[in-house]
Amino acid sequence: MNRRNTHQKQIIAAAVKGQGVHRTAEEVLAIARQEEPGIGLATVYRNLNLLAEAGEVQKFNVNGTAVYDGNPEPHDHLYCTCCGRLQDVAGNYDDAMDHETARRNHVRILRHSVLYEGICEECLKKEEMTWN
Ligand SMILES: [Zn+2]
Ligand SMILES: [Zn+2]
Repeated sequence: MNRRNTHQKQIIAAAVKGQGVHRTAEEVLAIARQEEPGIGLATVYRNLNLLAEAGEVQKFNVNGTAVYDGNPEPHDHLYCTCCGRLQDVAGNYDDAMDHETARRNHVRILRHSVLYEGICEECLKKEEMTWN
């Protein structure tokens, strides 16, 4: 890999890594372009998928859109149907579920993800304000 590619990879990784960071490829592209205007969407996709394959980020499908999560540890999410944001939710990752599913289906489970749908705290606050 040449120096330019390594540099682009670092910029893309910096734009997506971190706890609570959930970005689409387009959002990562916009951030990466602030540092390197010549970067293209194909490059962003390629690097995001490499990062996901390497287990450095997680890739989710939210309403048909790929969302990259900067936290590689298994955790659950809330998708806000009001503002469309994805956020991490506190809670314990349930290992027992993986073991049980593996046992009953004779498969090996690497991880699972729970996606809650609901309304986030911010949107709830806004709603309360309009009701009062
Ligand atoms: Zn919301
Ligand atoms: Zn997350």
